Amino acid sequence: MSEKINFELYDPNVEMKLISKEYRALLKGLKNRIDRTGKKNLRLAFEMAVEAHSKTRRKSGELYIFHPIAVARICVEEIGLGVTSAICGLLHDTVEDTEITIEDIERTFNKEVSGIVGGLTKISGIIDTQSSMQIENYKKLIITLADDVRVILIKIADRLHNMRTMESMKPDKQAKIASETLFLYAPLANRIGLHAIKTELEDLSLKYLEPKQYREIALKLKETKRQRTRYINEFIKPIEDTLSEKGFNFEIYGRPKSIFSIWNKIHNKGVPFEEVFDLLAIRIILDVPIEEEKQACWNVFSIITDSYVPSTERLRDWISKPKSNGYEALHITVMGPHGRFVEVQIRTKRMNDVAEKGMAAHYFYKGEKKDKDSNPIDEWLKRISTKLQNSEENSLDLVNDFKLELYNEEIYVFTPKGDLKMMPKGSTVLDFAYEIHTGLGNKCIGAKIKHKLVPLSHVIENGSQIEILTGAKQKPNEDWLNIVTTGKARTAIKTAFKAEIKELAKDGKEILTRKLNAISAKYNDKNLQTLIHFYKETNHLTFLSKVKLEKISLSELKKMEVLGGIIKTEKLRKEQENKPLTDSEIIKKVKEKLKENSDILIMGEDGSKIQYAYATCCNPIPGDDVFGFITINEGVKIHRLNCPNAVNLMSKYSYRIVKTKWNQSKEISFLTGFKINGIDDLGLVNKMTKIISEHHNINIKSISVESEDGIFEGIVKLYVMDIEQLDELILNLKKLDGVINIKRLEVEL
Ligand code: MN
Repeated sequence: MSEKINFELYDPNVEMKLISKEYRALLKGLKNRIDRTGKKNLRLAFEMAVEAHSKTRRKSGELYIFHPIAVARICVEEIGLGVTSAICGLLHDTVEDTEITIEDIERTFNKEVSGIVGGLTKISGIIDTQSSMQIENYKKLIITLADDVRVILIKIADRLHNMRTMESMKPDKQAKIASETLFLYAPLANRIGLHAIKTELEDLSLKYLEPKQYREIALKLKETKRQRTRYINEFIKPIEDTLSEKGFNFEIYGRPKSIFSIWNKIHNKGVPFEEVFDLLAIRIILDVPIEEEKQACWNVFSIITDSYVPSTERLRDWISKPKSNGYEALHITVMGPHGRFVEVQIRTKRMNDVAEKGMAAHYFYKGEKKDKDSNPIDEWLKRISTKLQNSEENSLDLVNDFKLELYNEEIYVFTPKGDLKMMPKGSTVLDFAYEIHTGLGNKCIGAKIKHKLVPLSHVIENGSQIEILTGAKQKPNEDWLNIVTTGKARTAIKTAFKAEIKELAKDGKEILTRKLNAISAKYNDKNLQTLIHFYKETNHLTFLSKVKLEKISLSELKKMEVLGGIIKTEKLRKEQENKPLTDSEIIKKVKEKLKENSDILIMGEDGSKIQYAYATCCNPIPGDDVFGFITINEGVKIHRLNCPNAVNLMSKYSYRIVKTKWNQSKEISFLTGFKINGIDDLGLVNKMTKIISEHHNINIKSISVESEDGIFEGIVKLYVMDIEQLDELILNLKKLDGVINIKRLEVEL
């Protein structure tokens, strides 16, 4: 690349002057947050960094030292951190890139500084390795991040500056950094409450990942600017007048959504281009003393709703109950002039500061003094640390869980004793049980909320008081992993599960030994490895437990060669290679086939010429996802997509599958059934039948109920018109006291 060299930049005197200027700006940003010792240490860090980086330049040609100073300035000016963080910002790349060691830093400063710089060094080591095991790296990264919030904050500042100055990098490097930013740093910034930085990171990422679309949107925004400004002014005018009249000290302005959020709306939500450009947010920032904040915001709220009609469902009150990342404001959407919806955000100056700089800065790093009171971010980090301590969890799960946590917000619920617990939004009864105590989670069968019994999977709501119900015979099973959302519950279930798998594996080992003896082979490591490999299992415990549970039948064992007690599977595997597809692969293939296939069999249509019948193995009812299977003698048989036989049919005879569609005639009823679990309650069967036959007018074929240890399990078979009727019924049955879970039967009725 031939670049023009700016000689002025390379004049040592000019450069030194520029560096000093940057340093003075950093110092100025800290003004009344720095004392004499702080000043001395900052100067020390500055000199140390200048000296250490003196021989390196960035890709753009400027001296490297400009980067750490810029990072320190972002920490101070945009995140609101104090002198320790500024020192760490200055030093953040020294250990990684220069002769300076962590010990040097600890000796010159203290353990706090060396700890943070150490964390930052570890991270850059992780990020820079161009390893293919990306996920593994993210795991390490997350573990390091959870050590000290300041490590996260400085890392975000570092990333922000790198994103701002990526112009001269190679496109592939730009794309890599940008996608990492979008994947991890932007959500992280959002979770910590750094809204302005989050938006900038997203916009910059888009600029490098989708340069064409980014430019298009930016251009379009520019083109429509004048029009927008006119509209904003029109909208603002009456509000401005009233606010001034009433003596408010305020600032009001309007702006379009960020480029990234516009792109996201067009790209992911399918909102048309023009409509997105209509989206506006008006922000009103009030300057009032803290004790008058709430009153003032609500006053302004009523002034706005006097001028414009509010859309009722779009009031967001984060003043009475701030978001867990600290965000406070009132948001309302109103109908502006010319019938356009406009979002109005009302906040005070203090709230705006928190929104822009993040609550981490405000809550406990102002002046670098940690506040002993726990706060949402602290609690969040604590929760992450607990999760990370169980490092056995596979990395992909861990990263996914973490991502989930980033987007989750908290709700608050109460124990029967009135203790307040914070849970991620979307948590279920089971999550809550595990949150209180692992033992409680393992035995949980449901809960009581507002005198009503609710199942394990019930999503808990903000403010509920929850009493967990337990059963002595209850134990965790694999399905529970689909019910829970918190890392703590997942980990506990997996742990409980592992213990059970070990138990099962013991029995599995006995079974396997017996079966091996029958073919004159021995139970030894070599044979075990061969079998694990053959059955595509990952480890001996799951393999042996599946043997015990008969999930692996070992029927192939007899077909395997045995030489001197050692099993050989090569021949058998070759024979089997003609049918290598897994169940889910087959289903996927058939779904694709169904999509492209244009011949549709419409069931229930009058005068349909094709003979068809409903398969009795899965009993589909109108509304189910189904496929047709051409039989030899009985025309087309209709199966449910999740029919137990489907996989077999699809794999062997996929060419015989036809697309089908329901045409409800509501004349015939269909046999279906479900399993119902609950807590034993006298008269429950009675109540159930009453709902089924009286309220829903559905014919029952049979009901059988078994009860043990206070828990009952019933099988109900009945005739319904379609899936809608069945779903409605199930919904109503679930409302019954005592009913915990209802599951449609997949098997033959
Ligand atoms: Mn850096």
